[in-house]
Amino acid sequence: MTRVYLALGSNLGDRLANLRAAVAAIEERGIAVTARSSVWETPPVPAGQPPFLNAAVAAETGMGPLALLRELKAIEHALGRRPGPHWGPRPIDIDILLHGDERIGMPELTVPHPRLTERAFVLAPLADITRGALPCIGVSALELLEGTGLQGAVRRLAL
Ligand code: AMP
Repeated sequence: MTRVYLALGSNLGDRLANLRAAVAAIEERGIAVTARSSVWETPPVPAGQPPFLNAAVAAETGMGPLALLRELKAIEHALGRRPGPHWGPRPIDIDILLHGDERIGMPELTVPHPRLTERAFVLAPLADITRGALPCIGVSALELLEGTGLQGAVRRLAL
């Protein structure tokens, strides 16, 4: 079994329900969620679309990275995600942040997620469920978050 970290985001429809449905679907597909972050409200990147709710989960899975990506894409599709603008609004987005200590550079999958270290909307949830140096990265999510200077832009929801 490999420890993986996943990032979830939603900025269309009932955002909280979308995040909950995504976590339920992840578990239904045999990916064992072992920790989940708070839900955070975050400014959209790029601007000009509704704000996101973001969360992160830790999970244990026997799936390799590409099999996991396939499952996550199927969940996105089942929850109403349709191909659209790469950076546009979406009911659900699920990204693989880390897959054990693997480094992957394939056309369809880059792990660690290439923008992991600079995105407060990923790092704030990730800091909820990790302590100490992240695999492959060697720095903690909290230190990375502080380095972005964007801590003030993201807001933990009282949930
Ligand atoms: P996005 O529109 O941001 O959800 O990008 C989706 C595409 O990014 C997917 O079709 C994946 O093939 C690709 N991708 C590359 N690296 C990753 C990753 N670490 N996690 C999820 N998707 C990834």
